[in-house]
Amino acid sequence: MSDLFYSNISELQAGLNNKTFTAVDLMQSVIERTEAVESEVNAFISRDIEDALKQAEASDKRRLAGASLGALDGIPVGIKDIMAVKGQPLRCASKMLESFVAPYDATCIEHLKASGAVIWGRLNMDEFAMGSSTENSAFSQTANPWNLDCIPGGSSGGSAASVAAGQTIVSIGTDTGGSIRQPAALCGVVGMKPTYGLASRYGLVAFASSLDQVGPFARTVKDAAILLESLVGYDPKDSTSLNRPKENYSKALEQPLRKLKLGVPSEFFGDGVDPEVKAAVEKAIDWYRSEGHTIVEISLPHSELCVPVYYIIATAEASSNLARFDGVRYSHRSSDAGNINELFNKSRGEGFGEEVKRRIILGTYVLSSGYYDAYYLRAQKVRSLIRNDFDQAFEQVDAILTPTTPTPAFKKGEKSDDPLSMYLSDIYTISVNLAGLPALSLPVGMTQEQLPIGMQIIGKAFGEADILSVAHAFESNHEFKDLRPNLDNSKQ
Ligand code: GLN
Repeated sequence: MSDLFYSNISELQAGLNNKTFTAVDLMQSVIERTEAVESEVNAFISRDIEDALKQAEASDKRRLAGASLGALDGIPVGIKDIMAVKGQPLRCASKMLESFVAPYDATCIEHLKASGAVIWGRLNMDEFAMGSSTENSAFSQTANPWNLDCIPGGSSGGSAASVAAGQTIVSIGTDTGGSIRQPAALCGVVGMKPTYGLASRYGLVAFASSLDQVGPFARTVKDAAILLESLVGYDPKDSTSLNRPKENYSKALEQPLRKLKLGVPSEFFGDGVDPEVKAAVEKAIDWYRSEGHTIVEISLPHSELCVPVYYIIATAEASSNLARFDGVRYSHRSSDAGNINELFNKSRGEGFGEEVKRRIILGTYVLSSGYYDAYYLRAQKVRSLIRNDFDQAFEQVDAILTPTTPTPAFKKGEKSDDPLSMYLSDIYTISVNLAGLPALSLPVGMTQEQLPIGMQIIGKAFGEADILSVAHAFESNHEFKDLRPNLDNSKQ
């Protein structure tokens, strides 16, 4: 039963139903795999093995009693360390929250539990989700399972790496400017950011509230669809949550893909994109053409403004959201403060890492009087232009295809002293958050050095079923979902 950890959800559900193995066997297989490779991958900040086995046992009991809860019953789901799971540590990879334990479940976690998922581990990330390499974690450095000298991407690096390495079946991450899609692309897995408002943000530690969304990581498109179904749903506790009828995304994949118009924006294929990435994405686009879909060249003229606009809006929101970590209520409290101002200063000074401080300072600056109109207000106006670009494009096309990232995974340390070059690794993903649209990253190639390449598929608002179907068609005709990284200490 050693390879259960690399199975997909449908295979696992069949095996559990036929009694070929139990949820405890499955969890044990995932735990063994995790222990075998974790010293190389470092995907987890913490994991509660006993608790996971207990949840798996409860799932077996339910199944035996004919009372299985749903599509995820007994399936291990890894959780980024930014979502509250009652009774588990919630650190956001920050010293600021080193000893914080979540007092309640995030709504997304409630949904996962309601469909029987085994909540498994706290996955590493950039501190407070700020970063693109997971190097900003205060606790450990996650490696890319395909090349341990490379970063896994970020900020949900642990979520992507654990799925690629077989340390969980699927996982949850969050995406504010690319933090699901970028690491998914760099680790060779599927990662999806839903339409803004589809997944509840209640119980998610806020970074930039107008951009943050929760979404799935999986090794197959169908698993991502199954996980997404369980995750989303209206939540009165989140005022931006949308009340829409539930969709059956995995069922939609059973329909043959209708002939579509697929847009290719010229702005995403110019200077700055690595030749191997460009070639793999163009080859994937050619495949769609050969299948009878119409490829339409489109323009998203404000694309070059996405990075500056994002780093104004996201930092402004972050500076306000992170004001709550003041050493008074639940965050790190400096032991060496003589008065209240010193308490704020020292607690924040000691608790936050360098990148988080940089963001808070930038965000406070763009919101300060005299600069607000010049930066923040202006950025909001440009955000509308970026949204309009997409509205116009979607008058002509059903979905948009781009590279997910300009380059494959880079080496650890390569960009950590150069924030600007780090920021540019999200250049293709950020506009989607600014426009609130759904998008996923799909593995479409490997470089000569055996690093994965991802293609981004962007949909209309609530076009989740469409982009999953577009991805599924490609995946069913290619072998990328079956490729596995070669981790030394472990059996394949
Ligand atoms: N890498 C981007 C940033 O550093 C996006 C992060 C995210 O999506 N959480 O802000």
